[in-house]
Amino acid sequence: MSHVIEPATSGRAKCRGCGEKIAKDELRFGEVTENPYGDGDRTLWFHPLCGAYKRPEPFVEAMAATLIEDGSVADLEAIETPAAPGETIAWLRDQSRFGLDHRRLPRIDGAGRAPTSRAHCRSCREPITKDSWRIGLVFYEEGYFNPSGFIHVGCWRNYLQAEDEGPAQGEAAGEDVSRRDAPNNEAPGEPLDPAVVLARLAHFSPELTPTDLAEIDGELKSA
Ligand SMILES: [Zn+2]
Ligand SMILES: [Zn+2]
Repeated sequence: MSHVIEPATSGRAKCRGCGEKIAKDELRFGEVTENPYGDGDRTLWFHPLCGAYKRPEPFVEAMAATLIEDGSVADLEAIETPAAPGETIAWLRDQSRFGLDHRRLPRIDGAGRAPTSRAHCRSCREPITKDSWRIGLVFYEEGYFNPSGFIHVGCWRNYLQAEDEGPAQGEAAGEDVSRRDAPNNEAPGEPLDPAVVLARLAHFSPELTPTDLAEIDGELKSA
């Protein structure tokens, strides 16, 4: 049971990370997991960057397996061909390492304006005011990314740089806004660059305009 990075053999699979289709012959990352509904394994497919962002551990394993264990020349050529401009294997590896160093970073699922003032920030517990920018979070569980609330853009340092071993009770259900995630006791690894966060927000919310992103960038940097 080994994770894979390979050219897509069909254009049917949808990426688990962003929900978009993975085109035939495009490079894809497959996380192989036990099938919870029966015997055998199942493979969850991702765009390489979506995998690096949201499933850094198996993604790094897949890179190692592809490049070292059975890295034929053809495989190496495929993996060294950027899926998008600048998306080289070294860059993808860096993106996944950010997620290994900061365990909450892979929860980022994009950004948007709060449609109401009802949701509370998972970091500071204060309401997120209608029309202000918020970061959406998901929690991975058994092959699915479950919505698990929001944080203020301005709370990103406290929340995303916190040490985190796993979901707190009820977290995956996503509706528990009364509870606060564990405070940041130790910040592992290097402090995160706001650009690392902005890139993920832009990736998972492709509808954001350059003006939107500039506004969010300003809030990230002044946090
Ligand atoms: Zn994707
Ligand atoms: Zn907050």
